[in-house]
Amino acid sequence: MTAPAGKRHALRINAPSEKRLRDGSLWVYHDGIVEGGESAASGDLGVVFDRKGRFLAAGLIDPDSPIRLRVLQALKPETIDGAWFQRRLAEAVALRGPLRERARKTNGFRLVNGESDRLPGLVADRYADTVVVKLYTTAWIPHLQTVLDALVEAFPHERTVLRLNRSCVRSKPLLRGFSDGQVLRGPALSGPVVFQENGLSFEAEPIVGQKTGFFLDQRDNRARVGDLSGGLDVLNVFSYTGGFSLYAARGGAKSVASVDISRPATDAAVRNFALNKSDRSVAACRHEPVCQDAFQVLETFAHKGRDFDLVILDPPMFAQSSAQVDQALQAYARLTHAGLSVLRPGGILVQASCSNRVGSEDFFRCIHHAAGQAGRPLAEIERTGHALDHPVTFPDGEYLKCLFARA
Ligand code: SAH
Repeated sequence: MTAPAGKRHALRINAPSEKRLRDGSLWVYHDGIVEGGESAASGDLGVVFDRKGRFLAAGLIDPDSPIRLRVLQALKPETIDGAWFQRRLAEAVALRGPLRERARKTNGFRLVNGESDRLPGLVADRYADTVVVKLYTTAWIPHLQTVLDALVEAFPHERTVLRLNRSCVRSKPLLRGFSDGQVLRGPALSGPVVFQENGLSFEAEPIVGQKTGFFLDQRDNRARVGDLSGGLDVLNVFSYTGGFSLYAARGGAKSVASVDISRPATDAAVRNFALNKSDRSVAACRHEPVCQDAFQVLETFAHKGRDFDLVILDPPMFAQSSAQVDQALQAYARLTHAGLSVLRPGGILVQASCSNRVGSEDFFRCIHHAAGQAGRPLAEIERTGHALDHPVTFPDGEYLKCLFARA
C-alpha cells in the first residue's frame, strides 16, 4: 500500500468465509477471522492466506465494522498502490462508455458502484463537472488522497465533493480532518449543481441531499414512465425532487402530483419543473407538489375519490436487516393496496423496491398477491432491475427492482 497507509496484517479466516471469498464475496465478517489483525487500525491492509499458506485476498480492515475486511484484490497477489487504483477506476469508467457517449443529454451517472466495481464501500457519482465520492467505511480515509488522484486521472473533472455515511461521521477521530460535504477539489459549492439526464435538467444536492444528491439508479425507469405518460394524470409517490414527475410531464402527462414528506425535496421538484419550462409539454403539464406522509395522502385521495391513470410508488428502503424482511413485504403490500385505491380501472402501477434484503421474486409475488386481494389482478408490462452504471457483480449488490403493470 502506498503512503500514508498503515500496516499490513496477515489474517487467517474460517472455512465458510474462505468459501464465500472464493464464490466472489468481497466481505469477511469479524467472526470469520480466526487469527490476526487484533491491533489493526482502520484502513490497514489485511492479507488473507488459506490453510496451505497461499494468498487468497487483500483488502481494507475496519476494526469497528462487523464487515471487518473489504477485499480489494482476490486470488492473485498484486501491489495495491496509486497505479492499481487508477487501473481499477479506469475499468469502472470504461464500463460507463455508452453513457459517456450520450454526454450532451446525460451527464449524471454513477461512476463507481462500490462492491460491484470491486471497490467495496466506495461510491462515486458524477453530476456534470462535479464528482461526489461517498464512503461507507473509514477504512478508505488513509488512502483517500491516493484514490482521489487516481480518480482525476481516470475521469478528469472540475470539482470533487466528499460524502460520508452515518457510521463514518460518528467516527470523527478517524477522519483525519475530512468531513461530510467537504469540497476536496475545485471551486467552492454552496447549493445544488445542475446536470442533464436524458435531456432534462435537474438539480442535485451533493452537499446536503439524500444519497449523493440524486437517485441516479432510477434513470431508465423514469424514461419508461416518460414513454407511458402521454395524456395521463400521474401520481408520483415518494417523489424526492420530482425525477419521475419531470419525465411524465415531458412525456405529455396532463397533470402530475409529486408526494414527498420532505419539504426541501418538494421545493426542489418545483424548481426542477421551472428548469425545464422551455419544454412545451413540461410547461403545459399541471404540477402539484404535496409535502405530506405518503400513506396519509393516498388515504385522503382515496377518500375524496381523487384518482389517477398512472401511479408510481418508489419508497425508501423498508428492510434495513434480514429480520425486517417480512415487515417490509407487508409494507409493500399495504402500499400496493393504497396505490391501487387511487388508480383508475386499466391504469398503470409502477412499484419499486430498493431494499437489497428483499429478493426480487418475493417482491413481485407480494405485489401480485396484494393486487389480487384488492380485486385488481395485475397484467405485467415489464419487470426491471439495474441500469448500466449500477452493475451487479457482487452477490449482495442487487437491490433495485421495479414492476410496471396494468391493473
Ligand atoms: N423516486 C425518487 C426517489 C425516492 S427516495 C426519485 O426518482 O428521485 C424515497 C423518498 O421517500 C425520499 O425523498 C424521502 O423523503 C421520501 N419519504 C420517506 N418517507 C416518506 C413518507 N412516509 N411519506 C412520503 N415520503 C417519504
